[in-house]
Amino acid sequence: MTHTTRRNFLKLSGGVAAIGALGFPAVSHAEGKKVVVVGGGVGGCTTAKYIRMMDSSVDVTLIEANEKYHTCFMSNEVLSGERTLDSITFDYEGLKKHGVTVVHDTVSGIDAAGKKVTTAGGQSFAYDRCVVSPGVSFKFDAIPGFSAELAEKIPHAWKAGPQTTLLRKQLEEMKDGGTVVIVAPPNPFRCPPGPYERASQIAWYLKNHKPKSKIVILDPKDKFSKQGLFLAGWKKHYGYGTETSMIKWVSGADGGKVESIDADALTIQAAVEEYKADVLNVIPPQQAGKIAFDAGLTDDAGWCPVDQKTFESTVHKDIHVIGDASNASPMPKSGYSANSQAKVCASAIVALLKGGSAPEPSYVNTCYSIITPDHGISVAAVYRLGEDGKIAAVKDAGGLTPADASDANLKREVSYAHSWFRNITHDVFG
Ligand SMILES: Cc1cc2nc3c(=O)[nH]c(=O)nc-3n(C[C@H](O)[C@H](O)[C@H](O)COP(=O)(O)OP(=O)(O)OC[C@H]3O[C@@H](n4cnc5c(N)ncnc54)[C@H](O)[C@@H]3O)c2cc1C
Repeated sequence: MTHTTRRNFLKLSGGVAAIGALGFPAVSHAEGKKVVVVGGGVGGCTTAKYIRMMDSSVDVTLIEANEKYHTCFMSNEVLSGERTLDSITFDYEGLKKHGVTVVHDTVSGIDAAGKKVTTAGGQSFAYDRCVVSPGVSFKFDAIPGFSAELAEKIPHAWKAGPQTTLLRKQLEEMKDGGTVVIVAPPNPFRCPPGPYERASQIAWYLKNHKPKSKIVILDPKDKFSKQGLFLAGWKKHYGYGTETSMIKWVSGADGGKVESIDADALTIQAAVEEYKADVLNVIPPQQAGKIAFDAGLTDDAGWCPVDQKTFESTVHKDIHVIGDASNASPMPKSGYSANSQAKVCASAIVALLKGGSAPEPSYVNTCYSIITPDHGISVAAVYRLGEDGKIAAVKDAGGLTPADASDANLKREVSYAHSWFRNITHDVFG
């Protein structure tokens, strides 16, 4: 990917706010039409809020299982002790101010023929259009010796909240000289650079508090997102490539695929060697959130196929699926993507509810990763709909942090990451 200056990137992408504006249909009301949004994470909240902002006559109900949402983004900084869980915790008061009806309950069924959503609490909600953004679920049993129950003791921390707190506690309790083993998932999964940012953040904590400790990443893959930039950062700060490196990455080709886990002994049998962990972080293989399966929205691969112009399911009419659960390839499964897809989906829904057609979409993604508090890296891309109706990356738009970026620019990437975090959380929940 070629490097594009940030100014050019913003010009090409139109910026997040302008992308939303691009899709705003002319004002005319879809009075009394009902939209039910399933899942109050990044995708769900953004869609609910933007539908109301585009047309306040639409009746929008958002159903979310939990009263508080913890962002996964920046949760790796909680692991290093650089921020608190509180700083990544959000509520639904902002959405209510936009006139969204927020219901805390678990959706147990979506009746596509009868156009209604039912909940575990016994409620029922009729809809004209339904938006499903439940995130991912985990294939715990794909790793022999591991299970959903064991994840209460061996945290994945791939959904932020109590899992993040548990992993942080285990890192704090680990002796100096201990080994942290991270089991990385196969593609596709939520946040492609996430496991490697996690290794960086844990290394930062260990370097400053338990410098004799090591991190081993067991990976079924042979390459990963922003790999060159990560390896260079690890070399610079954590001795990567030397005998004393704090981080060891074992690729699939080198035997990184995990065959089984002994949860009591904290030993991991990988393809070639056995490893012993003091702290074990297993990030299981992933698929769409459970409700997507229950509603019959998934394909054989376990993700939801959609019309990428509107995010309407290709299985069930009038139901849209966005965010991690959808198949929006080549967009990565990220919060930035979910937020961008939500705006495309909201503008399509408002237009369709009025009997119009969906506007021409444009999508954007940037993923920041923080290697130390002074060393950030990023990858950005802009997407449009191709003539084949599929999302396609716009050539030469976006790019990676340059390999020869100065220390000042690497430091600036960290402040961009933090400012992105403040902006997106306000855009989603504010
Ligand atoms: C460690 C880590 C770091 C990350 N860092 C970044 C980053 O730097 N940048 C970035 O862009 N992305 C990042 N991500 C990815 C990002 O968090 C996800 O891609 C994003 O949250 C996806 O949004 P979503 O709406 O699809 O799902 P979510 O945000 O997970 O929302 C799903 C919501 O649906 C609710 N739900 C599910 N089922 C039901 C049901 N049946 N009834 C009611 N509610 C239900 C859940 O409770 C949840 O609140 C990171 C992820 C991880 C794990």
